[in-house]
Amino acid sequence: LVSTTTTIRRLGDFVGQAVTVQGWLYNKRSSGKIQFLQVRDGTGLVQCVAVKAEVGEETFATCASLTQESSLRVTGLVRADDRAPGGYELTVQAVEAIQIAEEYPVSLKEHGVDFLLDHRHLWLRVPRQRALLKIRAEVERAVMNFLDGDGFTRVDPPVLTPSSCEDTTELFQTKYFDEEAYLTQSGQLYMEAVAMSLGKVYSLGPAFRAEKSKTRRHLIEFWMVEPEMAFCDHEENLRVQENLIVHVVNHVLEHCEPELHVLERDIDKLRAIQAPFPRMTYDEAITWLQQHDYDIKWGDDFGAPHETALAGQFDRPLFIERYPTAIKAFYMQPDPDRPEVALCADMLAPDGYGEIIGGSQRIHDYNLLKQRFEEHHLPQDTYAWYLDLRKYGSVPHAGFGLGLERTIAWLSGIEHIREAIGFPRMLYRLYP
Ligand code: ATP
Ligand code: MG
Ligand code: MG
Ligand code: MG
Repeated sequence: LVSTTTTIRRLGDFVGQAVTVQGWLYNKRSSGKIQFLQVRDGTGLVQCVAVKAEVGEETFATCASLTQESSLRVTGLVRADDRAPGGYELTVQAVEAIQIAEEYPVSLKEHGVDFLLDHRHLWLRVPRQRALLKIRAEVERAVMNFLDGDGFTRVDPPVLTPSSCEDTTELFQTKYFDEEAYLTQSGQLYMEAVAMSLGKVYSLGPAFRAEKSKTRRHLIEFWMVEPEMAFCDHEENLRVQENLIVHVVNHVLEHCEPELHVLERDIDKLRAIQAPFPRMTYDEAITWLQQHDYDIKWGDDFGAPHETALAGQFDRPLFIERYPTAIKAFYMQPDPDRPEVALCADMLAPDGYGEIIGGSQRIHDYNLLKQRFEEHHLPQDTYAWYLDLRKYGSVPHAGFGLGLERTIAWLSGIEHIREAIGFPRMLYRLYP
């Protein structure tokens, strides 16, 4: 039998010809003399029709032996068929069973969360999870396309670090020969250094935080995109963020429509995401919350309910700007006109997904930064190099951190961030 091995996505190139497709059995129906095998290969799904009278006893018996998720190679003639899922059907000529699967535990019925997470390695094969993996890949691609096209250079910061950038209670500590090291919580400080070398830079990689509470927005290991720009102020920083998000949304709309349908995402809501995004100052946000009976005062940080309520007023992401310096990181530039607030902003996604971006202009003045170190009791020696940057051609600069999983969760409309990454690391879950 002469056939070309191809993927399901490319079947349209082979109408009327014999091809071989290799994949896994997704589903099977039988009516005595005909079997319908639904085969998936990662590029699509195709129905393969095996007629007993045509394929013979042996091949028909092989088809009958295939269980869900069995791996196989099937050869057949490609037929165009409008009613078929991908537009084509395969008339089976031969089937080779590669491995007959045991009873597949992740059935289409409802399962509990722990069961699904225990079986994450198998759960990833269902349509919904495949859609999420695809969307994740496209979000990463869109981010890279946008930044690469805008003159940014991708730089990879270290994962093992001698110091922490954020809250020390969330650090993962590990031995580094005779020293202590920590898994990175953010590459930002390093990105500031390379911004002084390349101008506009970004990183795309994992961050680790020992988050001690269970929320639907926090993972222990998550991925961040961290752009950093020399000669950039607060205003420009927000414009870049806005344009990046609009680009990502449009890219996903363009490339992931089938996946968004699998996830039953309200696509019109995504189409409404356009720049400019609404803005509120922290002060305005506090006043609004107080007017809406939230028990909060100036100087408090927002919790998830506050962020959800604030962002809930809008159909697109909301910037909250100028938080009190006291509740933000030590490196944020105070507003020169009002030093008690920082030139920073969080971007809150609509529909309760919370903060997807945190960003700020950074302190570029040596003395001011040194003073901040003292106020925050930071170990001067581990941060000496960071302070050093302010001695050699320091310039105003700004940047931000975009959480990939939160962005994916929002774009996909999923309940919990854990499905936005292949193998989620969560409180007390390090398996599989
Ligand atoms: P939050 O206030 O929600 O805890 P954060 O202010 O601690 O977030 P940043 O340090 O500003 O987070 O990090 C930048 C971005 O990384 C956040 O806006 C968010 O999208 C994402 N992020 C932060 N922590 C987590 C986490 N534990 N899991 C997933 N994403 C996270
Ligand atoms: Mg946090
Ligand atoms: Mg925050
Ligand atoms: Mg933040």
